[in-house]
Amino acid sequence: MSTRRRFIETSLFSSVAVLFGKKAIGENVAPPAVIGKPLVISTWDAGIAANKGAWEILSKGGRALDAVEAGVRITEASQNCCVGLGANPDREGFVTLDACIMDDKFNCGSVAFLERIKHPISVARRVMEKTPHVMLVGSGAQQFAVAEGFPLEEEKLSAEAEKAYKNWLKSSEYKPVVNIENKQKGPMIPMQLENGEWNHDTIGMVAIDAKGNLSGSCTTSGMGFKMRGRLGDSPIIGAGLFVDNEIGAATATGQGEDVIRIAGSHTVVELMRQGLSPQQACKKAVERILKIKGANAKNIQIGFIAINKKGEYGGYALQKGFSFAVKSNREERLIPAVSLI
Ligand code: ASP
Repeated sequence: MSTRRRFIETSLFSSVAVLFGKKAIGENVAPPAVIGKPLVISTWDAGIAANKGAWEILSKGGRALDAVEAGVRITEASQNCCVGLGANPDREGFVTLDACIMDDKFNCGSVAFLERIKHPISVARRVMEKTPHVMLVGSGAQQFAVAEGFPLEEEKLSAEAEKAYKNWLKSSEYKPVVNIENKQKGPMIPMQLENGEWNHDTIGMVAIDAKGNLSGSCTTSGMGFKMRGRLGDSPIIGAGLFVDNEIGAATATGQGEDVIRIAGSHTVVELMRQGLSPQQACKKAVERILKIKGANAKNIQIGFIAINKKGEYGGYALQKGFSFAVKSNREERLIPAVSLI
């Protein structure tokens, strides 16, 4: 699989030029229209199928919270996706899953480093609704899931993941490296594929229901071939997902370490609070990461999507190749996100 992947070669200089005044690639794309309620958006092309699941609930006047759980469960269950138990394992050969969910009243739940459970998003919801905690991890999260009646699945890699793992083992050193993204050639980090898409391991979804209430969900296998125990942004409230029912909701995908650095999804919501549109807010957050990363930005991908209380939506990415799916009464489509680089 790694032969299908290549690093993007865009130089820092072009990205800095973009930051300081030159028009960003894709900037000519018209900003998305106001859509209203209900509305659901989610990351990447898998979002099209996931949105359909969410729409079943939203279109009948159901809660955004139920919709965002049902939607991403479709992706988690898909055998052909990079989210869920069929995804790439960590360096020890184990698939470990992370997920979080947040409703319209600042209730939130999260699981991380969860093994052998098919639907981490539903376990995250149980953490939110049935425990006094926000986050459960590892064997404790698994123990809670089993106690709640979630089946413990077989410890087995999907055929595609097994092939990718064997391939990774051939060339990759097993040791932690500082600034690993610059030194390691293995597919540890999001990378651009030959068709211009980025490999990715996450679905993030945010929705507004007919009553105008917001919720969000985010679920991932994390980055392929990560160090054992590594967590990214996806299960972290404020990084991979944030919802403030007075303002809006945002979720993230891509290099989780750098989303955590700026508390990415919370930052997007706070920028919307200051009056920015969802797209402008996502763009500002991506710009912040570009500024921090400098030359290292060329090897990573990060994308944010967001909706606000009015039912406006938007997304923005660091590099070309990120897309997000939208479903409302008026439209159902995959939108190529505008990017800085
Ligand atoms: N954000 C995820 C993580 O860092 C990866 C992804 O979105 O592909 O674990």
